[in-house]
Amino acid sequence: MNKLIGFTHASAELHEDIMTCQMCAPHLPLAPKPIIQFNPAARILIAGQAPGLRAHQSGRPFDDASGDRLRDWLGLSPAQFYDPQLLAILPMGFCYPGKGPSGDNPPYKECATTWRRPLLKQLSQLSLTLVIGQYALAYHVGAHKGSLTEQVRQQALDETTLILPHPSPRNNIWLKKNPWFELEILPALKQKVQLAISV
Ligand code: SF4
Repeated sequence: MNKLIGFTHASAELHEDIMTCQMCAPHLPLAPKPIIQFNPAARILIAGQAPGLRAHQSGRPFDDASGDRLRDWLGLSPAQFYDPQLLAILPMGFCYPGKGPSGDNPPYKECATTWRRPLLKQLSQLSLTLVIGQYALAYHVGAHKGSLTEQVRQQALDETTLILPHPSPRNNIWLKKNPWFELEILPALKQKVQLAISV
């Protein structure tokens, strides 16, 4: 299938420019390799932090245990999850940023302003944004004084932007400590996802 189905000339050009971007090559540990999923027709946006090493190697976002859990949370099969006409996956930085002292390095800031912002403007059918991680949270939700746990729990579930904890196995302890997430948030999330992709 032609991956550029549904693209305008401008969005196809933008996508091509991104895929050949070398802007922060000197700061990256590996050669730039943007790992995104995008089509202007996407209904749901997954706004994450930056691809990890595994995604860099495989070329697919969330191609790991975090992705398995995220797909389970959303109630989507891998085929649905990797359908760019249903889901856009646009992290705050598009290339693997390398390891830092605690986890991966932060995403390269200019990526969001140079590439991500114009891509977001092309998402004309978007009805649901799922925010994962502090950088995406600051961009899509803004400054908040509470902890991530408070923000996830207190959010209004009828909004079009929902905050999620990271689905990484490293968050297993958080999930055990906060059973309300699976009991209260996930059913509403699954419902919203189904509604968004069935429009
Ligand atoms: S992280 Fe973004 S700005 Fe940097 S090289 Fe990759 S696509 Fe370009």
